[in-house]
Amino acid sequence: MNIPVFEPSLGREEFANVEEAFSTGAISGTFGRFISEFEETFASYCGAKYGVATTSGTTALHLALAAYGIGPGDEVVLSTSTNIATCLAVVYLGATPVVIDAERRTWNMDVDRVEEAITSRTKAIMPVHIYGHPVDMDPLIEIAEKHNLLVIEDAAEAHGAEYKGRKVGALKDAGCFSFYANKIITTGEGGMFITHNEKVAKHAASLKTLAFGEEVRFQHEHLGYNYRMSNLHAALGVGQMKRIDSIIEQKRQVAARYSTLLTNVKGLTLPVEEPWAKNVYWMYALLVEDEFGISRDDLMARLREHGIGTRSFFIGMHAQPVFHKMGLFRDQKCPVADDIAQRGLYLPSSLNLTDEEVAYVCDAITSIQAEQ
Ligand SMILES: *Cc1c(COP(=O)(O)O)cnc(C)c1O
Repeated sequence: MNIPVFEPSLGREEFANVEEAFSTGAISGTFGRFISEFEETFASYCGAKYGVATTSGTTALHLALAAYGIGPGDEVVLSTSTNIATCLAVVYLGATPVVIDAERRTWNMDVDRVEEAITSRTKAIMPVHIYGHPVDMDPLIEIAEKHNLLVIEDAAEAHGAEYKGRKVGALKDAGCFSFYANKIITTGEGGMFITHNEKVAKHAASLKTLAFGEEVRFQHEHLGYNYRMSNLHAALGVGQMKRIDSIIEQKRQVAARYSTLLTNVKGLTLPVEEPWAKNVYWMYALLVEDEFGISRDDLMARLREHGIGTRSFFIGMHAQPVFHKMGLFRDQKCPVADDIAQRGLYLPSSLNLTDEEVAYVCDAITSIQAEQ
C-alpha cells in the first residue's frame, strides 16, 4: 500500500471551467467571469460581503494587513503555532509580530494569554484556526473591542468551519484563506481576503492590482502589489465551490472513522471538537504521548515503512531561526507550542481515502505499538 498524506480531488465541473477559460483566452487576472464569481460565491458562503481573490494564502494575508494600513511601529498579535505565512505577512510590512503560546486541547492560540501581550502599539490580532478547528472567538473579540483592535482571521485551514453556528473568516473584521492544493478547497495556488468593510475591500482590490490610478491609470498613489488570481485558477475555484459542503462532509467522515478506530489506542491524543465548534478536520491531526511507547518521529518513520505518508506539526514562530536572526522572539518561551510541535503529526487525509485505507493506517499504528 502507498497512502500519501494528501491528494487533491478535482471534478468534471472544474475541468469544464478551466477549458472555458482556456478556450476564450481569459487566462489572466484581469479578465474572465470566474474571478468575480469565485469572489462573490466564496465570500457569501463565509458570510462576508466582499472577497478579494489573490495568488496565495500568503499574499491574502499580506494584502489584508496592507489594506488596513498596518506598518512599522505597529504590533500584531498572532498564534505561534501556525504556517510561517501568518507571521511573514506582519514582517513584510515592517510591523512587529507578537506571538502567543498554544493551548493543548484545540492546539489554537491560548486566548487567555492574549490580553497580557497587548501594548499601546498593538493594532490587530490574527487568530489562526489550526488544522480546521476554530479559535474560541467570543473572548478574543471581547478583548479586541476593549482595546480597539482589528481581528483578521487566518482561516487558511478552516474553510466552512463554524464557531457557534457561524462560519469562520467573517467573525469580525476580516479573514484570509488559502486555496493551495491540499486545502479544503483548491485552485492549485490561490487565496482570498474577505471582509464586511466596503472601503477596505475596494482598497485591497486596488492594491492587489498594482494600485493603478483611478483617474490617471499610470499615476499611483499607493504601494501596490501584483497579487491577482488568474481566471484559470478562479475557474477551478468556482467548480470547487459547487462541492464544498460535500467536501467538508467527507473530511468529517474520514476524521470520524479515524477517531473510532484510534480511540482506544493508549498514548494517542486525538483531535477534539469543542461544543461550540464545527471542526472541518483539514488534516486528521493527533499527538503521540509518552505512554504510546515510541516517539512521534519514530512512529512517522515506521509508518513510512508501511507506505503511509504523515507530516509533523508546525514548529512555533518563536523557534524559527529566520526570526531569531532578525532579533525577534529570542527569549520567548512557548512550552505548549514546543510540546505539540514535538508530539504532533497528521495522518493521510485525502477526500478519496477509502474505509480500507483508514483501517490499514490504524492497524499499522496499533501493530507498531504492539511490537515495542
Ligand atoms: C497554507 C497556509 C497559509 C499559506 O497559504 P499559501 O496558499 O500556501 O500561501 C497561511 N496560513 C495557514 C494557517 C496555512 O495553513
